[in-house]
Amino acid sequence: MNLYDLKRSLISFVYPNRCPFCDKVITAGGFFCENCAELDYFKNDMSSKNTFCCVYNEKSKPFLSKAKENADGYAISAAAKLLHDALVRNNVLHKIDIITAIPARKAAKKQRGYNFPALLAKEIAQLSEKKYSPKMLVLLRETEEQKELSAEARAENLKGAFGARKLFPGLNVLVIDDVCATGATLNEARRTLEERADAVFIAAFAKTI
Ligand SMILES: [Zn+2]
Repeated sequence: MNLYDLKRSLISFVYPNRCPFCDKVITAGGFFCENCAELDYFKNDMSSKNTFCCVYNEKSKPFLSKAKENADGYAISAAAKLLHDALVRNNVLHKIDIITAIPARKAAKKQRGYNFPALLAKEIAQLSEKKYSPKMLVLLRETEEQKELSAEARAENLKGAFGARKLFPGLNVLVIDDVCATGATLNEARRTLEERADAVFIAAFAKTI
């Protein structure tokens, strides 16, 4: 049993592990109950450096909201496991040296108290026994919420918004986000890290299509 499994089984003594879709109590090592419907998985292009777990739709949306709200619980672990498995299927995870996340906007972090993509990244790092680096990317200025912006405005909103403190020579970096809509955020993160690392891979739990 590795540390990650040990941690989960210890937590399950206090808070029984539950299926994030139907709330049924499941085994300590499980992520879903056996009856729950699967998400609509995103068909990744195997040659690409981008990995998405599922399509952002009526099935994945409520699950993702639940994982976001219940950040200490079983739903975040299930989301991390699903994205982890997508990274394995896409032949990406074994190439990665270090995992990080898109930094949260200050307003969003203040409201929620944590950065959801960072929790996702941390869990994926624990699952795969890889190094997690929370502050690889920093937000250089406050950006606007992306939701209501056009694709063009999103790119403009994020232009030059990220910085990185260090160089990561020879390392393959994986950057995690929760939802990818136009790709503006992840592309800007990639652009920022590309000059500082060997290769930059990006992954998001859900992709808007
Ligand atoms: Zn279930």
